[in-house]
Amino acid sequence: MNVVPSIKERLRTELLCEYCGIEAPTRRTSFVYNVGMFFLRQEANVSGLFCKKCAHRYYWKFNPINLGLGWWGAISMILTPAFVVANTLRYLGCMSMPQVPREAKVPELFREEYLRAKERAVQMVKELDEG
Ligand SMILES: [Zn+2]
Repeated sequence: MNVVPSIKERLRTELLCEYCGIEAPTRRTSFVYNVGMFFLRQEANVSGLFCKKCAHRYYWKFNPINLGLGWWGAISMILTPAFVVANTLRYLGCMSMPQVPREAKVPELFREEYLRAKERAVQMVKELDEG
């Protein structure tokens, strides 16, 4: 069954990927990695609107870091499994997103036009939310 998404749903989900800039369905999510160094640890994360390709890219970039370098420390030993599970759940959540269209590309708008259009889209979603 092919259900056409409502305008409200499209405005919420069909924006630009914040990581590659292409115009494709996106989802707000985040990925975290941790590097344990016995008594220190380094943590980094990315969050925002991801297209399916970027969710895939960051999941497969960050989770090997967690699995290989994440657990070398007392605190890291506790945090890293939580990060691996959280990343995996978020990644699995992104797998229900539609594929990035083959013809998807970075829009060729001038920056001011893009910002104006984005602001208008946000305003439209607010108006729809208000009824
Ligand atoms: Zn992307």
